[in-house]
Amino acid sequence: MSDLIAVDEARRRVLAEVELLPAGPVALADALERVLAEDMTSAIDVPPFDSSAMDGFAVRAADPGVLRILGESRAGHPAGVHVEPGTAVRISTGAVVPPGAQAVVTLERTEPAEGAVRAEAVALGENVRRAGEDVTAGDVVLPAGTVLGPAELGVAASVGRSRAQCTARPRVALVMTGDELAEPGAELAPGRIYSSNARVLAGLVQRAGAELVTTEQAGDTAQATRDALDRALASADVVCASGGVSVGPHDHVKAALGDLSVTERFWGVRLRPGKPTWFGVRDRVLAFGLPGNPVSALVTFLLFVRPALAALQGADPAARRGRGRLTEAVSRNPRRDEALRVTLDARDDGWHVTPTGPQGSHMLTSVVGADALAMVTAGDGHAEAGHLLDLELL
Ligand code: AMP
Ligand code: MG
Repeated sequence: MSDLIAVDEARRRVLAEVELLPAGPVALADALERVLAEDMTSAIDVPPFDSSAMDGFAVRAADPGVLRILGESRAGHPAGVHVEPGTAVRISTGAVVPPGAQAVVTLERTEPAEGAVRAEAVALGENVRRAGEDVTAGDVVLPAGTVLGPAELGVAASVGRSRAQCTARPRVALVMTGDELAEPGAELAPGRIYSSNARVLAGLVQRAGAELVTTEQAGDTAQATRDALDRALASADVVCASGGVSVGPHDHVKAALGDLSVTERFWGVRLRPGKPTWFGVRDRVLAFGLPGNPVSALVTFLLFVRPALAALQGADPAARRGRGRLTEAVSRNPRRDEALRVTLDARDDGWHVTPTGPQGSHMLTSVVGADALAMVTAGDGHAEAGHLLDLELL
């Protein structure tokens, strides 16, 4: 691991191996957080007709005085009459503005008058939502690559779509290595620790819109490591191992991946925590050997695996980046860029960035309540308060 590569270079090498996954139709009800694989166009105008923005009366513009009421246009029930000078149609919000009407005078600006209504004058088009004001037929309402959130799904529904063409969710297999690992809930024998990485990585996989297909735990033997990785490679688009990726006599992940014909693309990143990160490919499967320390596993997932999961789905791998200013000086690491766990505070001049506290790579509590990773580039001395840092939002 003599030639550590830069974080950006590592990410470039990962993204260079990504091939977009195939797409298929997904019911809108199942499409939250899925990525659109088509430019979604609308076949209709939205609103589909001129409609009223208020409850009141549909009238001719500049037609004040006492107006004869011809009927009522309710939401979903057009009036079927024509508004002439001297007449009005009672109208509700969202109802069709009847032909001939040019504006809606709000209830507050009218008074009842013996089967008629006394209305103030209104300007042409007042309180009328024009057909197509939101969406015009033929418009691309959502471009390919859009992550479908609640509003995007609402837009798709508003143009009448019941399904969206979405990229497949990447299938992810996890392999946790380490003889010391115990399952939470079990007795903790001497020398053992509870496996936290499985929970952290599973959560990150889910939040990245991917599908966790298997999680295996492998003991620290070459055979067990290879067997678990073999099954993982057969079942997933992305394999993440944790632990066993460094140079110790009981670290078997790299050799096992090599035995399984996974071709190395890098090993070793100028990053703290996360130096021993390994990445390789076999056919279209991306394989990551993430460090075992819990914070290192989380940081390297966010910096390398999450962008890959976005790109596999056709989404922007850099969507969760930002910049913010340090609120306090932090010392730089002389050789490696450091991913600080930070909280963000929105101020007039943008995000203000404060480290969460002690930052040891074994201290998972340093991530609790964190909003982002802040990248402090390698160098001498300090990054001073006020210094702008790149952020990877959690
Ligand atoms: P390794 O990379 O296998 O040497 O592991 C580095 C450190 O991470 C060791 O202290 C391990 O005990 C710890 N570690 C490895 N896997 C896990 C896990 N799944 N959960 C929590 N800690 C782990
Ligand atoms: Mg280990």
